Amino acid sequence: MTPLVIRAGAQTDVGRVREHNEDNFVVEDRLFAVADGMGGHAAGEVASAIAVDIVGDVVENDPIRPDDLKNALSDAHERILGSVDDHPERRGMGTTMTGVAVVSAFGSDHWAVFNVGDSRVYRVVDGRLHQVTVDHSEIQELLSAGLITEAEARVHPGRNVITRSLGMSYPMEPDLWVFPPAEEEIFLICSDGLTNEVSESDIAVILEAEDDPQAAADRLVHEARLGGGRDNITVIVVHSRSDADDDERHDTAPRLGAAGPEGEDR
Ligand code: MN
Repeated sequence: MTPLVIRAGAQTDVGRVREHNEDNFVVEDRLFAVADGMGGHAAGEVASAIAVDIVGDVVENDPIRPDDLKNALSDAHERILGSVDDHPERRGMGTTMTGVAVVSAFGSDHWAVFNVGDSRVYRVVDGRLHQVTVDHSEIQELLSAGLITEAEARVHPGRNVITRSLGMSYPMEPDLWVFPPAEEEIFLICSDGLTNEVSESDIAVILEAEDDPQAAADRLVHEARLGGGRDNITVIVVHSRSDADDDERHDTAPRLGAAGPEGEDR
């Protein structure tokens, strides 16, 4: 059904300071997502649970279309707002939602990365880690506008203020990127409980070192706890390989009888 060979591992942890884990995640064959809930009286975990529930249902579509993801994010947003209407004590609850899915676009399987808020998707291709998503945070807006430096951002008081989320800001505008699969690649989907405690260079080293995605996820969460564990930590590691490349290697294999560059004299 899909030419991509995908292996995934996931881990979540309450951390060392918080009493509740308000993060949630979903791992399906073709969809991987993390939600970081916020809001008092345990409402954050309600919001993130609604989000992973509704976005996770997208896999019932075969194939998944990019618009299915956008619609699911809108539905989740509306459902969270509706839940606040029914339970006024949940006022102020919301959640980030970010992830990656295999979608059908331009006639073939593509990756779609979606994001609302400041949880992140990273991608490793050819050993290089880069952040695919752009944080919806005050600090990212200041950085993008060139008003502060990276160094100032790390100590800025507004660094935890997010500018978009499901259930809070209105109207809800998700980011969505669609791009073709690489021959081999790794995706990391995580809540800020990881990225606030572990540097990107350390994350890159761990993703490179661990061949097993579950081992990588476990180790990243462990490192975030060692770094302080001041927030809930959620990590999904996805390893993907394109089978199409195997076929291509097959097609370009030397033919019997063809003269090799080294000749036959051995
Ligand atoms: Mn968080």
